[in-house]
Formats: sequence, structure tokens, C-alpha cells
Amino acid sequence: MDKFCESCAAPLANPDFKGPSEQYCKYCTDEKGNLQPREAILGGITKWLQSWQPAITEDQAKARAELYMQAMPAWAKE
Ligand SMILES: [Zn+2]
Repeated sequence: MDKFCESCAAPLANPDFKGPSEQYCKYCTDEKGNLQPREAILGGITKWLQSWQPAITEDQAKARAELYMQAMPAWAKE
């Protein structure tokens, strides 16, 4: 069964994303496999959204990144 990063949903079956952690991709962890701080992930997802939707502002991209993260097990609020 394919596994996905619990922080950003990257496919862990893809060696481009697989890192030291079994739960998270290499972009969401440090070199030891520890999850990065929430602000770091938020910044990364914001840039990723802007990269394929260049028309939206940074504030809009950040708001969408916040929504995106609410669907992720690592960041979902109670
Ligand atoms: Zn990830």
C-alpha cells in the first residue's frame, strides 16, 4: 500500500520524497527524520502553491496553505 507524508501528502513511494522518516517526506523533516516546525511547513506549502498559481498573492497562498494543512494528520486541529 502506498504511503503518503502525514504533513504534506507527498507520495513516499517516490524516492524523490522519501527521507529518513516512515511517516513524513524528506521536505517535512530534518536530516534525522524529525518533523519540521509548523511555520516551516506552512512556508514551504505556500511557496509550492504560488509556484503553480502565480496569479495569487502571498497572503492568498498562505490562507490556502493553512486550509491544506488542516486536512493533514500531522497538523489537523482537534
Ligand atoms: Zn511532507
